[in-house]
Amino acid sequence: MNANVAGQAARATKPLSRHLAYIAQNRFARPTLVVDLDAVAAQYRALEAGLGRARIHYAVKANPEAAILKRLVALGAHFDAAGRAEIDMCLAAGATAAQISFGNTIKRPADIAYAHACGITHFAFDASEELEKIATHAPGAEVCLRIIVENCEADWPLSRKFGCAPEDALRLMDQARGLGLVVNGLSFHVGSQTREPDMWVPVLDQAAAIWRQAREAGHALRLVNIGGGFPASYDQQMQGAEAYAREVMKQVEARFGEAAEIMAEPGRGLVAEAGAIAAEVLLVSKKHENDLHRWVYLDVGKFSGLAETMDEAIRYRITTDRDHEAKGPCVVAGPSCDSVDVLYEKQPYQLPTGLKAGDRVVIHSCGAYTSTYASIGFNGFPPLDVIVI
Ligand SMILES: *Cc1c(COP(=O)(O)O)cnc(C)c1O
Repeated sequence: MNANVAGQAARATKPLSRHLAYIAQNRFARPTLVVDLDAVAAQYRALEAGLGRARIHYAVKANPEAAILKRLVALGAHFDAAGRAEIDMCLAAGATAAQISFGNTIKRPADIAYAHACGITHFAFDASEELEKIATHAPGAEVCLRIIVENCEADWPLSRKFGCAPEDALRLMDQARGLGLVVNGLSFHVGSQTREPDMWVPVLDQAAAIWRQAREAGHALRLVNIGGGFPASYDQQMQGAEAYAREVMKQVEARFGEAAEIMAEPGRGLVAEAGAIAAEVLLVSKKHENDLHRWVYLDVGKFSGLAETMDEAIRYRITTDRDHEAKGPCVVAGPSCDSVDVLYEKQPYQLPTGLKAGDRVVIHSCGAYTSTYASIGFNGFPPLDVIVI
């Protein structure tokens, strides 16, 4: 039995989780994301157990629902915010400024000033101009240098856009010091949905090399921020969060054991599995009589929350009430009048051959990167409805 089949067998025998039971018991007039707060809390505790001494800063962008932030505050989480709006969400949920880091390397000067006025002291940077902005608007702040890491094997890579080249690291740290800022450490991101803990090794090695050079050059780094990347189970069952995090931390401690502080910024790995979308089939059709593939059009698509199906990067698990029936390949598409609103075509999806308009479908592990990715009303389709239970 391969891991995938074993995972499905395990799922089949487990009782329905709360959010799936809620979906089964209710009807929805439009696509709805249902998130189970207890599942978020359980996942937080699992990550916390596996991450050991690393402090968890929840990457707010994954899902900024107030109820989620509040529950995480109650659990003692810290937060990684990307701008003024996310800072306000964290503060409104009861977080203190000391619990919030400003992790975006691309900041509006007014947002830097706002964060500084709120009492936030930790800012990320990866470029010279950004340091000048921080020095002007948050004088004396602690800054963490984000570095580019290569050879990421993530399903949703975050590499090139963020981070400085390794050869620029020391120069930027020197500049920061010259501007009266305190360089507290290094940060990186292995890429979102990094399926195996082993995939972290080359990335950690690159970061460790820069860490050593910086310390030798007299920068008293004390913090390493290992970012996010913790995976969720989509069409493949992943290792449990605690075991995964523990394996990552073993590799981190082997290289950064001397670091006084370790930060991790899970987003997807914390909230994705806690949510599912209740959706509906709007149409099943064939373009030609002898077409091998049916087209299955759902009432949710790329513009209503499923943006991570871009390039078919994230392959959600879709279940229906007919899963005991025979299945066949189909192209899965969203409802909008835009031809890019196709979810799975290169790799057709197996869905029941009896599937028809009006059938309920459940899209699993949608708690991260869905609700805020929904457009504000493209083609008149409303943003994704969210219910937190
Ligand atoms: C988006 C983001 C994260 C979260 O990444 P996941 O892979 O969802 O865990 C963490 N850190 C930073 C700086 C981010 O931008």
